[in-house]
Amino acid sequence: MNIKPKKSLGQNFLIDRDILNLIVSTCDVANKEILEIGPGTGNLTTYILKNKPKKLYVIEKDDELAILLREKFENEAIIINNDILKIDENKISDQKLTVFGNLPYNVSTEILSKWIINVGKTFWFESLVLMFQKEVADRIIAESNNSKYGRLSILTSWKLNVKKIIDIKPQSFSPRPKIDSSLLLFTPKENFFELKNAKNLEMITRVFFSQRRKMLKKPFNQIFMNAKDVAQKFNINLNLRPQNLEPEIYFKLTKEYEDLRG
Ligand code: SAM
Repeated sequence: MNIKPKKSLGQNFLIDRDILNLIVSTCDVANKEILEIGPGTGNLTTYILKNKPKKLYVIEKDDELAILLREKFENEAIIINNDILKIDENKISDQKLTVFGNLPYNVSTEILSKWIINVGKTFWFESLVLMFQKEVADRIIAESNNSKYGRLSILTSWKLNVKKIIDIKPQSFSPRPKIDSSLLLFTPKENFFELKNAKNLEMITRVFFSQRRKMLKKPFNQIFMNAKDVAQKFNINLNLRPQNLEPEIYFKLTKEYEDLRG
């Protein structure tokens, strides 16, 4: 079958063998249940299968590619022809999954945010090995006091440990994207800060980081009626900027907001 890559689905296929090998060596695959997101023409799928997983699920939105994948991997993988954003990841398997994904750039942050937000007390995955555009990966891993630190870094560090594995150049893909990519490894945190509703953390970080150059006074007054008391309780200097506060402070502020609202 002659496949013409679809830009709308972010189809840049990995062709670099060293990178494909590196991706599958990032986590144990042998005897594990694996989920691959957006397998495309199956380049990474082939490398995953070489490492003898116990079971392999792949989720591909493109109908044409799903047909190709069924032909190629009929007896080796469970092909799910669907949109990852519409799938309840908790229902894929009753085992913890190791997830690989060379994600379509236009939905990569949405997928990651959905997974973080939907995790209840127990994680449905053991690890995530995901590719992002480098600029997004840098925002995910940024720590406080860095200009790239923001909502995505805080949301990620709420529930996940993250490590950059490697940056990848456009030449490793076909067709070549215009930008560099980065491979990240995420593992669940053993304990994470309990909040009533992740939406409150999203709202609070949105208010703070939509005015990231302003002093903390302004967002504090927008969110809390008793802004000064809250700042004092957590020992926060309101003349600082949003990027100066550690993720932990944002979790505490969210909890305070939830407690004050009852
Ligand atoms: N993994 C392959 C590789 O590395 O060669 C392909 C990666 S390509 C960047 C992204 C893949 O995700 C494409 O095959 C695309 O059709 C698929 N895709 C795009 N949006 C998707 C979605 N919402 N759910 C599932 N798959 C999606």
